[in-house]
Amino acid sequence: MAYRHLFVDGEVTSLPVGKVVCVGRNYAAHARELGNAVPAEPVLFMKPATALVDLEKPLQLPTHGAELHHEVELAVLVGARLERVEEAEVGPAIAGYGVALDLTLRDVQARLKDAGHPWELAKAFDGSCPLSAFVRPADLPDVADCALRLWVDKKLRQDGSTRDMIVKPPALLAYISKFFTLEPGDVVLTGTPAGVGLLRGGEALLLGLGETLRFPARMAAPAAD
Ligand code: ZN
Repeated sequence: MAYRHLFVDGEVTSLPVGKVVCVGRNYAAHARELGNAVPAEPVLFMKPATALVDLEKPLQLPTHGAELHHEVELAVLVGARLERVEEAEVGPAIAGYGVALDLTLRDVQARLKDAGHPWELAKAFDGSCPLSAFVRPADLPDVADCALRLWVDKKLRQDGSTRDMIVKPPALLAYISKFFTLEPGDVVLTGTPAGVGLLRGGEALLLGLGETLRFPARMAAPAAD
């Protein structure tokens, strides 16, 4: 079945599946680990709706690169149109929060960056945005100070907190809306904390949001050769 936005209680939302707008380098420690400067303005890029897949389905390894990296991120589900809005107008338009993997072919991205080319082949391919079910905003009151973690085969790889974001979700969505109108069903990825690293076929993943929400995932077995 094609991807649909879901809430954690299993309710399917009536929202369509739209685009994904992402921000790079929104945690200083992650910018540093990749040797990047912390930008003065958010670094934005997009993934198409076809990048979205259900986190619970086996995650496929893309074949057009060798180094698939995990980036665990807080995902914001947009519930109402946001076009050139101020930060104060963003809150009521948020329909939910979840966790996503901004899957990145790091070797492909490095080649594209060196050549001064766009990143889409490294970050926007089919299946590059596995997404959890969403929590309603009222059920995640501490979203601004919320643990964001990723375990791979039970080892803690990423151990961050949303409080370390450089640009917080309301300001980020307002900034995005100056350039890209956010529509109901769009998703915003808010950047990854430090600890990104390689994923391999067959690995078991566990994504954590706050102290209680846990979302298991699994890398598909590598193709036999
Ligand atoms: Zn990312």
